[in-house]
Amino acid sequence: MTSPSNDNGADRRAAACPLCKSPTVEQYAPFCSKRCADVDLHRWLSGGYAIPAVDDDSEGAAAEPDRE
Ligand SMILES: [Zn+2]
Repeated sequence: MTSPSNDNGADRRAAACPLCKSPTVEQYAPFCSKRCADVDLHRWLSGGYAIPAVDDDSEGAAAEPDRE
């Protein structure tokens, strides 16, 4: 068995910034820069507590007899 390019490093993909898809910088991992890390932090702080009340009526809304 001969593997042409098994250990060519092709499997080693660089992590990408979740925000702008730029190569991650170790210092700001998992982001590419302080800016992106900051953006994510702000997003986290502003949206972390505002959990969207996504209620799917998959269990049957029989407890709320709303008629309009
Ligand atoms: Zn980025």
